Amino acid sequence: MGFKAKARKHKGNPDDSSEGKKKLSVIVGDIPCGIKSCDGFADKSLGGRSLSIDNAIDVWGSSGYEERKGRVRVCKGCYRKWKKDNKSEDTY
Ligand SMILES: [Zn+2]
Repeated sequence: MGFKAKARKHKGNPDDSSEGKKKLSVIVGDIPCGIKSCDGFADKSLGGRSLSIDNAIDVWGSSGYEERKGRVRVCKGCYRKWKKDNKSEDTY
């Protein structure tokens, strides 16, 4: 549950996209995962997705996520979790 994998596959270089400030550790994404219990990144390049609020509530409850413009950005891992919890998988 609360386990956070410290191991990262890549020590990716901080990419110098428009933002000048860097955070303390190696950041691999710009968009934090909207799931509060998760510290992943929801960047599209990292496999992040956005779910509707309803979808997020289904899996994480009404206070388990942070909303952004009516959507919940989730990282790849959270998206997979959501998908797993929802039987209606479209990718079979
Ligand atoms: Zn996540």
